[in-house]
Amino acid sequence: MHPPDIPQTIPNWIDGCERGTAAGETFAKRSPVTGREMGRAARSRAADIARAIGSAADAFPDWSAQTPVARGDVLMAVARTMRHHQERLAAVVAAETGMSLKAALAETGGAVAQGEFMAGEGRRFFGRTTTSAAPNKQAMTVREPLGVAGLIIAANTPIANVAWKVFPALVCGNTAVLKAAEDAPATAWFFGKLAHEAGLPSGVLNIVQGFGEEAGAPIVADPRVAVVSFTGSTAVGREIARVAGARLARCSLELGGKNPLVVCDDADLEKAAEWAVRSAFSNAGQRCAAGSRIIVLESVYPTFRDLLVQRSRQLKVGPEDTDDFGPVINPGQLEAMLAVVQRARSEGAAVLTGGGRLNDAAHADGFYMAPTLIENASPDAEISTHELFGPVACLYRARNFAEALDLANRSPYGLTACIHTRSIHRALEFARRVQAGVVVVNAGTFGSEPHMPFGGVKQSGNGTREPGTEALDVYSNLKNIIMTFDPSLA
Ligand code: NAD
Repeated sequence: MHPPDIPQTIPNWIDGCERGTAAGETFAKRSPVTGREMGRAARSRAADIARAIGSAADAFPDWSAQTPVARGDVLMAVARTMRHHQERLAAVVAAETGMSLKAALAETGGAVAQGEFMAGEGRRFFGRTTTSAAPNKQAMTVREPLGVAGLIIAANTPIANVAWKVFPALVCGNTAVLKAAEDAPATAWFFGKLAHEAGLPSGVLNIVQGFGEEAGAPIVADPRVAVVSFTGSTAVGREIARVAGARLARCSLELGGKNPLVVCDDADLEKAAEWAVRSAFSNAGQRCAAGSRIIVLESVYPTFRDLLVQRSRQLKVGPEDTDDFGPVINPGQLEAMLAVVQRARSEGAAVLTGGGRLNDAAHADGFYMAPTLIENASPDAEISTHELFGPVACLYRARNFAEALDLANRSPYGLTACIHTRSIHRALEFARRVQAGVVVVNAGTFGSEPHMPFGGVKQSGNGTREPGTEALDVYSNLKNIIMTFDPSLA
């Protein structure tokens, strides 16, 4: 299916216009469901990026001079336009990711909510008023925009990823260049179209298509870009931090995860199994927050394992609303995962279910991996320490709560973590001691809402939080203004 809203060749949005690249190059976008080319997208390079940054820089004086309330009103119009066209937007998301329309509608709804929350920040935009050590003085803080924001995103939840960055960057008064994920060019382009129709002034948001090194790297290196906000892998995030750091540009990194879900011996095992399945496999495991390490106390391990295997075998894989999850985004990701599973097997890990590509007639053309559960992998093995970003989870035995906590923390990552227990003491102790930016008790490794800070510790990020009001700290400078009440007394 090719939704009517996706053009055969997806252009960039620069200065309010759709443009091809200077060299006229394009690249292919393949459907994860059929494996076939769906269309092409502009293959931007340094000259195209320079033009997009120039457009954003030109638009900055007028946009930043508007009041935050006025900017919020424009962004609210963008969010309303998204809601009005939610079905169309979701159809684009579903077509290029292979997720079901139902899942795409849910994601789109979340993106609209993100837009509404951040648009509302235009009417809050709080600073701090405080006192001074000196008499006759008062201090207050105000937020100021930084300039041009460079926004670089992953493809996994493409409209959510756009909304998480664009709305806070713009409400703060920055203008922006957004580099779409090469696996999800149409969603970002369609967002640009809706924003344009909603009245976002030309040049405030420029959207460029292309590959990371060709179209992303020039954004990070350009001295006109004051803040780089990146969602993607830890390896690329490290390189971005290096380049942005060398020129002292602000940098926000939302990176990968290898998230633990701990099941204690006092847990409701049925519920825990249900949440473990959702945490591991929803969106085909392509979530930074996916629960890919399931740590189970020894006394309930066999019972829980059986429940989990049984539920995983019942999952339906495909692009329909009646399916539980769809394909992964591209063949490279599928091959990489299969290779890691194969290496784990050769090192002695056991595949409890799945473990391979789905090769039957309904799935053979798409990039489908069976829901995969693995046990007996060492906690230090590649499969335990590397993010796979697919429908693969490993089970680990822990002798007691302390060992479960140790295993949870034995990871280079620290994004989300979850515990299933009926004990308030264990829940609180876990929440206090687990190394993660988000902790969940008795549910799944899900934990983002528009008004809450999301982000990780260790190699999952560099300490910033998006979204929530905390995202405003990424995209603005605080200025401290000190007022003297009566100059004659100073
Ligand atoms: P990736 O790092 O390969 O690519 C992400 C983006 O960076 C793409 O747009 C890509 O073109 C661009 N890029 C690649 N190399 C670049 C370079 N040298 N300079 C500038 N830009 C470059 O990641 P991916 O495989 O597409 O996405 C999956 C990753 O994203 C996973 O690690 C996942 O955990 C992470 N992720 C994190 C969050 C979060 O909020 N923490 C959310 C979603 C995804």
